[in-house]
Amino acid sequence: MKRIFSLLVPDALILIGADALITLPALRGTATGLATVFPFTVLAAALLLGWRFNRSRLIFAIALLALTEYVLLNAPPLGTPRERVFFHALTFLLPINLALVALLPERGTLTAAGLLRWILLAVQVVIVAFLAKAFTDQSLKFLSTRVLPARWFAWTPVHQPAIIAFLAIGVLLVMAWLREPQSPVRGYFYALVAALAALSWPPEGPGQEIWLATAGLILVIAVIEASYLMAYRDGLTELPGRRALNEALPRLSGQFTVAMVDVDHFKRFNDTYGHDAGDHVLRLVAARLAQGAGGATAYRYGGEEFALVFPGKGAEECLPHLEELRVTVETSRFTMRRRFRPRTKLKVDKGRKTRLQITITVSIGVAERNHRNTSPDQVVLAADKALYRAKEAGRNRVST
Ligand code: GH3
Ligand code: MG
Ligand code: MG
Repeated sequence: MKRIFSLLVPDALILIGADALITLPALRGTATGLATVFPFTVLAAALLLGWRFNRSRLIFAIALLALTEYVLLNAPPLGTPRERVFFHALTFLLPINLALVALLPERGTLTAAGLLRWILLAVQVVIVAFLAKAFTDQSLKFLSTRVLPARWFAWTPVHQPAIIAFLAIGVLLVMAWLREPQSPVRGYFYALVAALAALSWPPEGPGQEIWLATAGLILVIAVIEASYLMAYRDGLTELPGRRALNEALPRLSGQFTVAMVDVDHFKRFNDTYGHDAGDHVLRLVAARLAQGAGGATAYRYGGEEFALVFPGKGAEECLPHLEELRVTVETSRFTMRRRFRPRTKLKVDKGRKTRLQITITVSIGVAERNHRNTSPDQVVLAADKALYRAKEAGRNRVST
């Protein structure tokens, strides 16, 4: 449920809002008024963000949307044959270009790679202009090829080759997004949907402008959300980071317990198996902690240290969960693929050629909020001291 929610919010809500704004008769006046300022506001926000945050892809995507607006204004789908070539070439090339922007890495706007991308865009414009002038009929014929029944697409002036491009790119973006749920590809998928709505909307009224501006708005929000995640979420383990912990603790009222979890002899682990294997183990440990036993929220405190916060619980109540966690980690066989080559000779079961089975342990220090430790900082410090005692006492244990 939560997962489906996170797939739809905020983008799907924005799309529904835009649709309501355009179609509800009661909002017609508002929509017409907005159509004059909304696109320029989005354009300004996108350029500002793209410049200040170095998000060249946002700038490219906004340029594509601006070009789309220009073509919609100057080359309507019911215009002269030449205008129709422009319209249908645009509808075909837009999803492909949006996907390129979404999937190619960030490389700047005025760098060599950035200039190459601008040139690629300009070349497409020149080729379309040439085809529209010299091969109008042939181009139109190609761009309006039919492979599926025409009545399926009676709702849009966009022709079938372009619809197929939109569908294929949509599937591609969803696949890339599901593979990496935090990636900005998600925004591009929803922007693609809004762009198709703009191209399919009747030219009367403010519909086309509002849909295109909505596509831009979704991309702007995606950049803001990605920046938020960068600040509050740890990129390696995908757990919230220390900044998030520092903001969450003061929000808790009443009783709570903090457990500091530290991987034992992790430096040695890194030295033996390599840093990549260490990263892999951190991700696996983080995934276990994230399961939230006992209602805990897990944070990556730093390095190989994690913090668990149990709201509304005293230390006594949390101990069984933490002991269980310690045992789970101890008894888990972390399976390493062979590409993590150990740097030194290891005693590895000779029968297992392709996988390494490794055991690791954690030490845990626990402290609750009480009359002695009242502030969040004091509780964290007390948990840190308890962790130190767990290490001193021989590691692989829980101390209060
Ligand atoms: P102890 O049992 O006392 O905790 O010993 P330790 O070696 O785990 O503790 P120490 O704090 O000396 O070393 C922590 C090591 O964790 C050092 C560093 O190389 C490693 N480390 C910290 N962050 C990362 C990371 O993101 N990835 C990897 N692979 N290693 C990390
Ligand atoms: Mg350690
Ligand atoms: Mg440590």
